[in-house]
Amino acid sequence: MEKYRAITMRNIHELADIAQISEEQLEAISVVGHVLPFKTNTYVVKHLIDWDKIPHDPIYILNFPQKEMLLPHHYDLMKEALETEDREFIHEAALRIRHELNPHPAGQKTYNVPAIDGEKLPGIQHKYQETVLFFPMQGQTCHAYCSFCFRWAQFTMKDLRFGMKEIDLLIKYLEANPQVTDVLFTGGDPMVMKAKLLDYYITPLLEADLPNLHTIRIGSKTLSYWPYRYTEDEDSDEVLSIFENVVDSGYHLAFMAHFNHFQELRTRALREATENILKTGTVIRTQSPLLNHINASPSVWATLWKQQVRLGMIPYYMFIARNTGAQHYFSVPLVKAVDIFRKAYNKVSGVARTVRGPSMSATPGKVEVTDVVELGQEKAIALRFIQGRNPEWVGKIFFARYDEKAIWLDDLVPFKGKEFFFEKELSSYLQSAEKNYEQIRLVREQELSFSPIA
Ligand SMILES: *Cc1c(COP(=O)(O)O)cnc(C)c1O
Ligand code: SF4
Repeated sequence: MEKYRAITMRNIHELADIAQISEEQLEAISVVGHVLPFKTNTYVVKHLIDWDKIPHDPIYILNFPQKEMLLPHHYDLMKEALETEDREFIHEAALRIRHELNPHPAGQKTYNVPAIDGEKLPGIQHKYQETVLFFPMQGQTCHAYCSFCFRWAQFTMKDLRFGMKEIDLLIKYLEANPQVTDVLFTGGDPMVMKAKLLDYYITPLLEADLPNLHTIRIGSKTLSYWPYRYTEDEDSDEVLSIFENVVDSGYHLAFMAHFNHFQELRTRALREATENILKTGTVIRTQSPLLNHINASPSVWATLWKQQVRLGMIPYYMFIARNTGAQHYFSVPLVKAVDIFRKAYNKVSGVARTVRGPSMSATPGKVEVTDVVELGQEKAIALRFIQGRNPEWVGKIFFARYDEKAIWLDDLVPFKGKEFFFEKELSSYLQSAEKNYEQIRLVREQELSFSPIA
């Protein structure tokens, strides 16, 4: 039995038994790791990373900070700060750089937090009609951190963490909002929670017997980074029986698994874990962002989707990497993203074409980059809403000027006219949301404090 052991800056020297990491890479890990959170574990290191291929191995890059993940001036600033060995100065420098890295993209924090009976529900986010996101307090960390993750801000800045203990408030919210059919447990990674805690959240939800609730989703990277959660952890059996119980109670349980590369699918532990989850009646759907240096090629995606289908998983989303953190390192231009998506999509049969994307989770909604087209004599980018802050936007196609460099919706300008069709309505939504939440934000900004991560 493999016992979970995190690898962080503190015990990184233990890696010397497994792998040769050059001095240069160690320096980069230390400098970048002081700004962007860094944590991995023994399974990833022993079974997923191909050490012969470092520094180019995709799973190595996913787990270990790379020099280029900071902009050169940030890197130098941090390196100099570390040389002072002055703790406070180092923290200040890290904080300053983080604040320049767009820690809360797409208005996540301020716009989507609902309230009930005048009480704010900071552990809930509700943006799209049918689906509520729930952030169980103890699920706000992960077995390992992905270097591109937009949640890096939560792992590093205490005050910016979402979180809520009370499942009761969630149930109350669901009762008051009969249009909601799905609850998505997310984090961090809710599957870092012990079975007992998971049960503490799930059982009351089942017992509440809400007629509107049809689907419980759990977003997790554990299948990739710690598959033993479903095979040989102390409470694996309990976890699986919670899943079974959800399904037996008549709900659709969707395990939203996160995989970035087919290399994550090759271990026996992964196969066994997958089988065990599927046996409970849970459906596994998969999603990943498109990432430069990791999976920016059609053949990687085609292989990823084909192998997922073979394992019994259903490909669901290809995302565009968010405009936060090390975006300059990971981002793929939108027009290149749609090209990669299409070339990969062309290589797989219909059963893998359940996947949608490439999609941006942007302020107005989930926006798919559909195609590059010619309108008259001019090239344009065709986009389409997959989800919208206003449900009436869903399915609508709109056009932006062709732009080879654009990496996010914010970079695009309308093909015709001054604004996109949704912009007026969006700004009025945001204004009213802003008013409601101004207060929370003020309180939180005052509390802003640095918390060491490792
Ligand atoms: C992606 C997302 C969802 C779920 O959307 P589906 O298209 O139903 O998978 C829900 N809420 C937010 C805020 C999201 O970004
Ligand atoms: S597992 Fe998910 S939440 Fe955790 S670091 Fe990776 S992408 Fe972010």
